[in-house]
Amino acid sequence: MPLHISRHLIDFWRNSGFNTSQMDKNLTNMTFEEIAGVAAAVGGKKPMARAIFSAVQLGDVAQIEEIADLSQKAKEALSQRGYFVSRVRVVDQQVDPDGTVKYLFEMEDEARVESVLMQLNGRTTVCLSCQVGCRMGCAFCATGRMGFGRHLTAGEMAGQVNRIAADCGPIDNVVYMGMGEPFDNYEEVLRSLRILHHYAGRNMAPRRLTVSTCGIPEGIIRLADEGLPVNLAVSLHSADDQRRGEIMASARRYSLAAIIAAVKAYQAKTRRRVMFEYCLLKGINDSAEDARAIVALLTDVNASVNLIEFNEFEGCGFQTAGRMQVQVFMDILEQAKITTTVRYKRGETIQAACGQLGLLGR
Ligand code: SF4
Repeated sequence: MPLHISRHLIDFWRNSGFNTSQMDKNLTNMTFEEIAGVAAAVGGKKPMARAIFSAVQLGDVAQIEEIADLSQKAKEALSQRGYFVSRVRVVDQQVDPDGTVKYLFEMEDEARVESVLMQLNGRTTVCLSCQVGCRMGCAFCATGRMGFGRHLTAGEMAGQVNRIAADCGPIDNVVYMGMGEPFDNYEEVLRSLRILHHYAGRNMAPRRLTVSTCGIPEGIIRLADEGLPVNLAVSLHSADDQRRGEIMASARRYSLAAIIAAVKAYQAKTRRRVMFEYCLLKGINDSAEDARAIVALLTDVNASVNLIEFNEFEGCGFQTAGRMQVQVFMDILEQAKITTTVRYKRGETIQAACGQLGLLGR
């Protein structure tokens, strides 16, 4: 069955007046500290908070009644105060021959997003979405062409991971590289990171969490001060401001100089090597000269580069760079001692590859 995220659905979300404050009583959307506050309000202590948080983040519970290790009295007290739990719902699932699985999730209010499960070299990675659609306008991205629906809540982001984990077991890595720009939904993304990181839940170390941005300097700088040194990935796609602006609307607002300065500030605080993502587009940004421009840009940055094989889709207007060209590009970066990897297409037959999420509903 095909996946559908249609433009009229996006319009519906724009006009629906949906307000995430309606989720204030949703325990699934709370950090451990927030649940501790709720537990205290009903006379409970830390063990009660732990029981609730673990149940909603690990136990796949659909209602308060299902929370183990919680007294009937506590369950009733929570319900009487209007608290509830929720789960993201799997609407559809497609499996690529390479093992990649694309999930279509539906939220409580029927908003839909896609997430991808990848299993490679014995490691399990979930690529989650942080928004319904996206407003960053990258020309080569199917999600960008959908327009923007709404932000997801922290619980809806963690919920994608939790639902997939219920199918396949422990998750090694989570990357915020699905639909949406994380720093355009900063507060909820940060809260979702704290939820996934907390020891009473998934207990994911910061190095197993990666936030990927199209390059919003204030978001990068802000994240540096959160005391949560997650991996940072920055979409580069060109080392030239003008060329970048032609393929990424956000680049007309944020210069490469500002992005690199923010990355350096992030590294000074977190000591993390930053990964720059570079989608190779034939005749646009795949020349040897383009590669040398990256070397110059990243001269004094502790960086790695991930070259991404572009996944063509109908009407995209771009072509995949040839593999020979990819090799030449990679050689130039490696000769300059920049650690470089190539992300070849995965999940292509189910439109689960990079830049393809939401494609079938266009
Ligand atoms: S590449 Fe990322 S930031 Fe750009 S439009 Fe697509 S989802 Fe948004």
